[in-house]
Amino acid sequence: MLITVQDINHSFLIGRKGKESNVPVLKNISFSVKQGEIVSIVGRSGSGKSTLLHILAGFLKPDSGEIVVKDTVTSVFNEQQSAQFRLENYGFIFQNFQLMPGLTAFENVELPLKLKGMNRHQRKDKVQQLMKHVGLQSVQDHYPNELSGGQQQRVSIARALITDPPIIFADEPTGNLDSRTGADIMNLLQEINRESRQTIIMVTHSPEAAKNSSRIITVSDGMIE
Ligand code: ADP
Ligand code: MG
Repeated sequence: MLITVQDINHSFLIGRKGKESNVPVLKNISFSVKQGEIVSIVGRSGSGKSTLLHILAGFLKPDSGEIVVKDTVTSVFNEQQSAQFRLENYGFIFQNFQLMPGLTAFENVELPLKLKGMNRHQRKDKVQQLMKHVGLQSVQDHYPNELSGGQQQRVSIARALITDPPIIFADEPTGNLDSRTGADIMNLLQEINRESRQTIIMVTHSPEAAKNSSRIITVSDGMIE
């Protein structure tokens, strides 16, 4: 197994100071993913899908339970270890893009390669090639606030793919795109899955996207159905 998730529980503290209450969001989540799979996570808004993806990618620590990726227990990592493991192994497409506002589209996509220590010349070639592939070459010098929602989505996707990560997490990757562009992006993800055997775990509302995956996991009220 590439990823094994065992008995994950997570809750959030919500409410005003002194009156907080603990709201359980994920309850005993267990599943595993094989290398090369495309797994779709579906479920109602608020059911815990984004929380699950953030925990898998190490942005959030579960209250309890274990995550094992390629024989490494990742759920015990501290923040720095998580960041390093992510850089080597994951690409993450956020539901709300999370682009760096002070960097251009090009620089946002380039950033992970910079962090990995790739030289400037190689970075430029690689970034330009991918931006062309996702139809962004004409806006590469725009800042995020000078891009449409769909363009920001594509920058976020390019940034996730630029390091050729073995595992890609995508939180509603086509949620902000028109149906045509959404279909293009799904084709791109399927193509990299087919050609480079990259594993994809995505949250989606699109029945079309879910249909093209190897497996569908339904989350309902923080539990797997
Ligand atoms: P989904 O992605 O399935 O729509 P989420 O994982 O975003 O659902 O949220 C699941 C539940 O957890 C929701 O009830 C949401 O309000 C709550 N939640 C998410 N993030 C936080 C947070 N940072 N603090 C408090 N509650 C949160
Ligand atoms: Mg969500």
